[in-house]
Amino acid sequence: MAFIEVNRVKKIFNKVHALNGVDVTFELGEQYAIKGASGSGKSTLLYLIGGLDRGSVGKINVGGRDLFSMNDDSLALYRNNFVGFIFQFHFLLPSMNCLDNILLPSKIGNKDTKLAESSAHELSKTLGVEHCLKKFPFELSGGEQQRINIIRALSLRPKLLLCDEPTGNLDSENSNIVTKLLKSLAAEFGATLITVTHDNSVSDQFEKVLIMKDGCIVSK
Ligand code: ADP
Ligand code: MG
Repeated sequence: MAFIEVNRVKKIFNKVHALNGVDVTFELGEQYAIKGASGSGKSTLLYLIGGLDRGSVGKINVGGRDLFSMNDDSLALYRNNFVGFIFQFHFLLPSMNCLDNILLPSKIGNKDTKLAESSAHELSKTLGVEHCLKKFPFELSGGEQQRINIIRALSLRPKLLLCDEPTGNLDSENSNIVTKLLKSLAAEFGATLITVTHDNSVSDQFEKVLIMKDGCIVSK
């Protein structure tokens, strides 16, 4: 059995078939890019795998968990313990400094914040944003904010790192840096990395590229 098994998954919003029978598997520790036109269902698939929503039909199994049969509390625990999300638009809370933003998942999950804090310092040194930890998000550039976002997503060492157009609002130099960082950190942590992108310079950095069209995976 693969780490992630998506079987005949459909997601229907009112009458819109966002996913139209997706069959795909992802292996533990591997790295994937998903490409496809806008509206093809990429974000919807990522959100279902990350337990942010449930499908209308079919099954998603992640490491032995049947996601659509889990209740809201179990899904919240699954997200906190196993999944790191990185979105195009950073969801850093504006009223907290960057370190507090990074520590938020640990606090919510009642985890050891001392450990998270030391790993935040270590990672921010590696990513060149140590000087940002005491600053508020609005004081940072887009590239710096995205690096803080990455550190937060990795703070609990998730086995699954889901990125939705993570470099969508970065210039090509920062986009390249962020993609390389995501790949090397996921490899270091042994996490499965799934990155949705429509940028060829991002997907070119992945060996495994899946294409979505009209709510289906059409090639892999
Ligand atoms: P992509 O990320 O590839 O651009 P999405 O997964 O966001 O595509 O959307 C796929 C389709 O589902 C689109 O037609 C979109 O309008 C529709 N859709 C996505 N989310 C919702 C929602 N919450 N309510 C209604 N329609 C939605
Ligand atoms: Mg999308």
